[in-house]
Amino acid sequence: MHRPALSVVIPCFNEAACLELLHARVSAAARTAVGDNYEIVLINDGSRDDSWPVMQRLSAADPRLVAINLSRNHGHQLALTAGLDLCSGAQILIIDADLQDPPELLADMRRTMAEEQADVVYAVRRKREGETIFKKATAAAFYRVLDRVTDTPIPLDTGDFRLMSRRALDALLSLPEQARFIRGMVAWVGFRQVPFPYDRAERHAGETNYPLGKMVRLAFDAVTGFSTAPLRFASHASVILAGASLLLLFYILWGFFEGSPVQGWTSTMLVVTVLSAVQMFVLGMIGEYLGRLYIESKRRPLYLVADIAGPVKGHSSLGFNAAEPSPEFDMPETQRAAE
Ligand code: UDP
Ligand code: MG
Repeated sequence: MHRPALSVVIPCFNEAACLELLHARVSAAARTAVGDNYEIVLINDGSRDDSWPVMQRLSAADPRLVAINLSRNHGHQLALTAGLDLCSGAQILIIDADLQDPPELLADMRRTMAEEQADVVYAVRRKREGETIFKKATAAAFYRVLDRVTDTPIPLDTGDFRLMSRRALDALLSLPEQARFIRGMVAWVGFRQVPFPYDRAERHAGETNYPLGKMVRLAFDAVTGFSTAPLRFASHASVILAGASLLLLFYILWGFFEGSPVQGWTSTMLVVTVLSAVQMFVLGMIGEYLGRLYIESKRRPLYLVADIAGPVKGHSSLGFNAAEPSPEFDMPETQRAAE
């Protein structure tokens, strides 16, 4: 199989307004880095705007562009997985479609990879332009909490913008889980990984596709995917509560022997409500893990592809778990669905 030197993988959700400039800037950056020997893989993650028709048009004019249309919105991490499955490059650049991550950094990232003999060069955000204080604060807090609870050291302030070697990508693709927190999974894979500081730009057009709800879900995927610490919370809480109950018992006995038994609805209610809150929290946490266990046990495909435009050279599992045998993808010519 012919392997391009570089694949640029870009998940897109409602990014029609960014695609042309994205294509131009990524193509220019890739050409500077590796000449003509590259491919760009765009994944349309069930966009509701014109992203797919724009991608089809771009791919008809550029033989180095492959556009993949997923059957519906599968979410950023699964759309990215689809692109990573289908790309075939020796090096792989993951980048967002909104041009917040400048493609022009590719040359420097490749240089760092060569100099440091690294398998992964991950971009670390020094500054984030044009994002709300709320987004920056929650992101900063999230990465720090994650760092405390997880067993895998996941780099702080790092998104999915990164350059990877083929062996690191193949290792990543061998992880079959459904709840995918890719930046953590890459960290888990190991090999030599080096940071690459950069300033994050503003979105070129459109608005963030990561509202609070999706961010919270990603955060839960991250924590549950990389740590079982929340499950141990119940044991820690029980030790503390047992100590507190003992003190309370002494206090009650003391009052009884002093001749002034403790009375009070307020204190009883307080204890009951505090304990219920703790119990509900613990149950909720168990539910999070149990739910994920259930979803994983169904072993559904990670994503489904509806159409592909452009020449796919890669190898796809078409969304079936990497553990299962994957059919060879051999599409000689552009396959286009209803245009
Ligand atoms: N994205 C996607 N599917 C989704 C949400 C987002 O493919 O359901 C893509 C989006 O098009 C972009 C990347 O994921 O290329 C990051 O999303 P966004 O820029 O909205 O997130 P932010 O940078 O605001 O965290
Ligand atoms: Mg963005």
